Parts: sequence; structure tokens; C-alpha cells
Amino acid sequence: MIENTEVVVVGGGYAGVMAANRLTRRDDVTVTLINPRPTFVHRVRLHQLVGGSDEAVVDYGEVLGERVRLLVDAVARIDATERGVTLASGGTVGYDYLVYAVGSHSAAPSVPGVAELAYLVATLEEARQLRPVLADAPAAAAVTVVGAGPTGIEIAAELAEGGRTVTLVCGGVLGPYLHPRGRRAVAGRLARLGVTVLDGPGASVTTVAPDAVHLADARELPSAVTVWTVGFGVPDLAVRSGLSVDDLGRLRTDETLTSVDDDRIVAAGDSAAPSDQPLRMSCQAAMPLGARAADTVLSRLAGEQPGALRLSFAAQCLSLGRDAGVFQFADRSDVAVPFHVGGRLGARLKESVCQGIPKLLADEARKPGTYRLHRVAGGAARRRHLVRAAPGQARST
Ligand SMILES: Cc1cc2nc3c(=O)[nH]c(=O)nc-3n(C[C@H](O)[C@H](O)[C@H](O)COP(=O)(O)OP(=O)(O)OC[C@H]3O[C@@H](n4cnc5c(N)ncnc54)[C@H](O)[C@@H]3O)c2cc1C
Repeated sequence: MIENTEVVVVGGGYAGVMAANRLTRRDDVTVTLINPRPTFVHRVRLHQLVGGSDEAVVDYGEVLGERVRLLVDAVARIDATERGVTLASGGTVGYDYLVYAVGSHSAAPSVPGVAELAYLVATLEEARQLRPVLADAPAAAAVTVVGAGPTGIEIAAELAEGGRTVTLVCGGVLGPYLHPRGRRAVAGRLARLGVTVLDGPGASVTTVAPDAVHLADARELPSAVTVWTVGFGVPDLAVRSGLSVDDLGRLRTDETLTSVDDDRIVAAGDSAAPSDQPLRMSCQAAMPLGARAADTVLSRLAGEQPGALRLSFAAQCLSLGRDAGVFQFADRSDVAVPFHVGGRLGARLKESVCQGIPKLLADEARKPGTYRLHRVAGGAARRRHLVRAAPGQARST
């Protein structure tokens, strides 16, 4: 019988904070959360940071349980054999269990000129770098947002609402996730904000130059500030640590979120790849995954079989400036359905989601075990079907 169990949570985003808080359900578990910053980043508001309507940070004191020790540092390597992590500052921390929740960042750009000349927005530091650049740019300067997934759409709308001249280069379809009706609603709002939307096969950027972008169909667009929002990548910590990862570098796990290499390591959030099945990188998934990862550790400590991941997506919610939004509903397989809520009501729904996230984390901090969305029936059947369809990739527990 173990007297005290040391759990190290690597990464203090939505998944890591949820997991850390939940693990304090047991008095004989000591939780250390390792994160490079002393404040919690509310990433789903980073486009607002760029637009100037929010700082996108929350004091950890508001969302982290009192029994969680916050260690401000980064993990440089995980040694699964020795059950310890090496910190970027040079020290080491041992663990009995480790929660891998290092999240995501901008995908490594492969288009010439992006790395040197474009601005990224997927992390706090990137968003903070862009804000003063926009503030210093003349009001009429052409701003090009590249990528028309949720991040690109939200940034384009936010900047246009603030009076900027914005062109959104889609690289294909506007909002690929959206149902055609939801897409029409987004396109209508962007048009009203004065955003020029370039979509279709030729509308992909081939080069970023100092004051222009070049498109595949030979068009050249003047661009004083180019914002690159094309895709997420993940930190390479798992790769560097010799752990099994998928093509993107996410830690491969089974349906209990246990690493396929080591049952003392569980993963959650954007940096987890459960059963190699598609999983939208999102806050919407990160919190249930964080809760599931904690429950898996708690089950093992209780000598019980951990449960499988249950994950039901309900929607994708987009803010389109401060006054409008589109709440695109989805089925349980995460496919958009014809129904959406738009306009001011859509904006209010999105805002209530953004306000609700720190509240859910705070509730879990105050009363560990409160969060239950990862136990909602529905997603489990669909995942079981997917895992059965790809046998051999999931490990049984
Ligand atoms: C502008 C924008 C808007 C978005 N809007 C939405 C939305 O409306 N809805 C939605 O569902 N999703 C949205 N997302 C996506 C969402 O923010 C991410 O999917 C979510 O943050 C993933 O949560 P996470 O806990 O896995 O990782 P993160 O929130 O990225 O947290 C990971 C943490 O781990 C830390 N870390 C990394 N490496 C190490 C290391 N080596 N050692 C220690 N710590 C480390 C990071 O610094 C970070 O603090 C948006 C993203 C952006 C950029």
C-alpha cells in the first residue's frame, strides 16, 4: 500500500489544471503542476488580446486548488524508466504518475516568408507580440489573415470590428468545419464588417513578402501586417523523451488516456492521441480529457479498472467581433448539423462559454470531483465503433 502518491502534471492549460484539481480528491495524493508561466492562459480569448478587448490571462489563484503546488518551469525531458522529469532550469522532480498536458502551439510554417515576416497568434507570447505591431500600423494599413479555421475567422472579425482593413485568405473553404448554413451566416457577418474573404482553390498563400502576400493563382495582395493562423502543432517533449507519438507528435494512448508505453503516464488535451482516432484540438475536448486522465490515475490508486473516454462534442462556437457570433451545433461524431444560432444571441452564447470555462475549473478546485461532462453518455458508443474499426491501435487495460 502506497502511503503518499506523487503526481506531476506537465502543462497548466485547460487539461492540466482540470486534472491537477481533480487529483486532489485524495488526501494521500500530492500534485505538482509544472508550467512555464505563473498565470493561466485563457487561450480561447487570445484573438481578443490581439483586438484589445481582453488580456486572456487568469490568476492561477482563481482556478487552481490550494493543494496543487505550482512549479513555474518547463519540463525538458521525461525519464519514464526512472519516473522523473528534468526541468529546463536544471533540477529534477520524481513522480509516481505523470499527466502529460503540454497543449499545442502554431504549426511549424512551411511557406516561404512566414517564419520571418508573418505574425502567429496561437500562444500568449505570439498574441502579445502582434498587438503592438497592429497598434503602431496606420489605421488604413492592409491586414491579411491567412487561414479560415476558427482562429482565423475570429481574428479577422475582431480586427475588422476594430476598424482595420482585413482580407481573409482561406486556403480553400471558409470555415471547413461549418455546415453550409452556418458558413453563410459567418460569411454574411464578415461581409458586414468589411472583411474581404478570398476562398477557393487559388486562394492559398505561396509566399509572404515584407509588404505583400502571393497567392497560388498568381495574385499579389498588399499586406502591411500578415497574421498566420494555419493549424496547430504540439511540443516535441514526448518525442524527445522517447515516448510513442502519432504523426503530429501527440502522445499515443489507449481509451483510458494511458500511454501505450507506460501505465504511469497518462495524457490529456491537445497533446494526447487516444487510440489514434480523430479528436478536435479544442478547449471543449481538453477539459473532459483532463478529468478522464485524473480519474484514470485515481482508479489505479483505488485498485479499480479505469473507465474509457466518453467524449461528445456539441458545437463549435465562433465569436465574430464583440457583437455577433455563430454557435454551430454538431452531432455526437463532431459533424456540423444544419442548425446554428447566430447574431447577438450567438455572441452571448460564446461569451457565456468563455466565462464558464474558468468557473468550471474553479469549481473543480474548490470541490474536486464536481466536473461530470466527461461522463455524459453518447460519445462512448461512437468511439467504441471507431476503435473497433481500427483494431490493434488501442491498448487494453
Ligand atoms: C485564438 C484561439 C481561439 C480558440 N478558441 C477556441 C474555442 O472557442 N473553443 C475551443 O474549444 N478551443 C478553442 N481554441 C483551442 C484551445 O485554446 C486549445 O485547444 C486548448 O487550449 C487546449 O488545451 P490544453 O490544456 O490541451 O493546452 P494549452 O491550453 O495549450 O495548455 C498547455 C500548457 O502546457 C504548457 N507547456 C508546454 N510545454 C511545456 C513543458 N515542456 N513543460 C511544462 N509546461 C509546458 C504550455 O505553456 C501551456 O501553458 C482556441 C485557440 C486559439 C489560439
